[in-house]
Amino acid sequence: MHGMSLFITSLNSGSNGNCYYVGTSTDAVLIDAGISCRETEKRMKQLGLPMKKVKAIFVSHEHGDHIKGVSTLANKYSLPVYITPATAKLGPILIKHLSRTFTANESIVIGELSITPFTKQHDAIDPHSFIIAYKGITVGVFTDIGIACEQVTHYFKQCHAAFLETNYDEALLENGRYPLHLKNRIRGNQGHLSNRQALELFLANRPPFMTHLFLSHLSKENNNPELAAQLFTANANGTTIIVAGRDEATAVYTITSSQQNDTVGSLGKPLQLGLFQ
Ligand SMILES: [Zn+2]
Ligand SMILES: [Zn+2]
Repeated sequence: MHGMSLFITSLNSGSNGNCYYVGTSTDAVLIDAGISCRETEKRMKQLGLPMKKVKAIFVSHEHGDHIKGVSTLANKYSLPVYITPATAKLGPILIKHLSRTFTANESIVIGELSITPFTKQHDAIDPHSFIIAYKGITVGVFTDIGIACEQVTHYFKQCHAAFLETNYDEALLENGRYPLHLKNRIRGNQGHLSNRQALELFLANRPPFMTHLFLSHLSKENNNPELAAQLFTANANGTTIIVAGRDEATAVYTITSSQQNDTVGSLGKPLQLGLFQ
């Protein structure tokens, strides 16, 4: 069992910085590196995650909260950075020999991991998200998404665990102090997912084997972690709900694919009743 697990954590999640760690016992990748190199090192050390396991960084898009630490981390640890050419033009300054590209829906093998990028709707030049797979266990990072498009739902349905954007509560945004143009950008089809939109995506596309859902990229101004957690926990149907924080890492969660999950799931019955955290 030990060798058949993915270890995952959000090192930080929110418009102040995003960095998600997904690894096996030997290999790991970072999806985005939007906090400083020093803070990334500090948080990984606190969690007992050695940097030497990290074999690559994948960049979703060029917004600062996703790339702030990329250059320093990549240079310091000689990490290849997977980034599309359009994003690279606007993104972090990279040493050429560390720069790699990727194509949507084409998997890249990094050690024991297989990473598949896919397109999404967001107000960036060439935005992508990623799923990461290892021996039939799949984890996805779904943040900075304007709308639940077909690509997003297609890959969400494959995940045993997912980081899903719950950026804002619609009433808090509407009644908040942001200027109208900014409100419209956030809630537009190229902006971010609200709690309600994310819940609809979850309820319509959650596979029976999804054990963990990390509510991610919460707005400080327009959301409330308790509110989002309550909404999802009431609808979790056995999936453990975790809020990925704006100022600290989550614990490291172990994601496994158990025979029991598959069997029960195929019968269409709820999983793991009573295992809410
Ligand atoms: Zn972002
Ligand atoms: Zn963004």
